[in-house]
Amino acid sequence: MIVTREIKVSTKGHTDIINITSQLKDVVAQSRLSSGMVCLFVPGTTATLTTMEYEPGLIKDVRQYWEKVAGSRDEYEHNARWGDGNGYAHVRSAYSGPSLVIPIIEGKPVLGTWQEVVFIDFDNRARSRTILVQMVGE
Ligand code: ZN
Repeated sequence: MIVTREIKVSTKGHTDIINITSQLKDVVAQSRLSSGMVCLFVPGTTATLTTMEYEPGLIKDVRQYWEKVAGSRDEYEHNARWGDGNGYAHVRSAYSGPSLVIPIIEGKPVLGTWQEVVFIDFDNRARSRTILVQMVGE
């Protein structure tokens, strides 16, 4: 069986890191699948999905990491071409990817004790985002 749902989030942009673990657990529980996989996907080129320990120190560390790797004040050909100022957000998204796959076992997404599912919005403005959640299993 294949079940497709959505998770909607409002973000502040600027590498806003949003914990969507409880929404994901609800969506998987409502699917009634006991075994399978869940794929989360963001249709867009300035965001990503990953997992992390969701605590204030690490949230700052992750934001600092991305500032070093693709600084928001650096120069980008994309900005020169389009003038939208979010070249850094596109680079960050390209190298962290738009999707995440998690196994479903005994009706729940498998996560470590401190492992939370996060959506990161790198864009340089607030956004309303729709994350596609597609579950395959039985
Ligand atoms: Zn752009």
